[in-house]
Amino acid sequence: MPARLIDGNAIGAEMRAELGAEIAGLKKKAVTPGLAVVLVGDNPASEVYVRMKGKACDEAGLYHETVKLSKETPEGELMSLLERLNANPQIHGILVQLPLPKQIDTNRVLHRVDPRKDVDGFHPENVGKVAGGDPSGFRPATPYGVQQLLIRSDVETKGAHAVVVGRSSIVGRPMAALLLQDGKGGNATVTVCHSRTRNIAEHTRQADILIVAIGKPEFVSGDMVKPGAVVIDVGVNRVDDPSKKSGYRLVGDVQFDEAKQVASAITPVPGGVGPMTITMLLYNTVQAAKQWSSR
Ligand code: NAP
Repeated sequence: MPARLIDGNAIGAEMRAELGAEIAGLKKKAVTPGLAVVLVGDNPASEVYVRMKGKACDEAGLYHETVKLSKETPEGELMSLLERLNANPQIHGILVQLPLPKQIDTNRVLHRVDPRKDVDGFHPENVGKVAGGDPSGFRPATPYGVQQLLIRSDVETKGAHAVVVGRSSIVGRPMAALLLQDGKGGNATVTVCHSRTRNIAEHTRQADILIVAIGKPEFVSGDMVKPGAVVIDVGVNRVDDPSKKSGYRLVGDVQFDEAKQVASAITPVPGGVGPMTITMLLYNTVQAAKQWSSR
């Protein structure tokens, strides 16, 4: 029997509706959650992501500012902007769109964001809290979204063997930390694989929950999936497709058609993890505003 589809659009919409009530509550207290998105340079993919984030804020009734800087911007100028945003009471969340141009030290920039406004969860204070299982830390949006997909699709993580393929600081590492946490959507036994892992299929085939985030189109074939596993495909890759007007189509890191014959549940690409990432960014911004208003 083909796998059940885990629908990120539907779960994201459900979460945004819940968030609507929280936003209305904050507005009654004269607090409108505000997000600043900083874009340096003209990377076309980043521009699309930034536009999508702004649109999502508009739809949810959040205040937002997008600050665009040229690709030659010196690091000092970006730092001064972050100081202004850190001090701006209208802004509760700050997101610096990555990647940054070469002249800018990404870590130094991410460390300059006030941890209380770090809705991307990249400041070392939040990274440390998430790694240490402290729920007060902002959780990075993509793995947090994956965790919500699992919880809201009634996938039991407790005691399950979760295999995370990919160890980036944006997805793989925080994903492993969230699955290890003692609580809902956690308590899994976690294996993390990466480019130096030997015999990767031996690991993926043991996964009750397989989460793939490597950026390699359709890398995981059906025979790498354990029958009945839950498969979460984080990858978003463009592959040439002359039959499309755009000349390309989006695929994940998993061979969807094969894996869905083996798995019990699976996320599609697009329409799986992607919509959850933006939802969790809104969610973190609302949490930041709530914390700010109760200070
Ligand atoms: P990344 O920073 O490039 O990290 C890729 C990770 O995959 C690295 O840890 C790398 O291992 C590992 N890897 C690469 N090739 C591998 C292989 N053949 N076998 C095993 N591991 C391998 O990428 P990322 O930022 O985590 O993103 C991963 C994918 O998720 C991309 O397709 C990206 O577009 C997508 N993504 C989607 C969303 C969303 O909202 N849907 C959000 C973020 C990312 P090493 O560390 O050993 O090099």
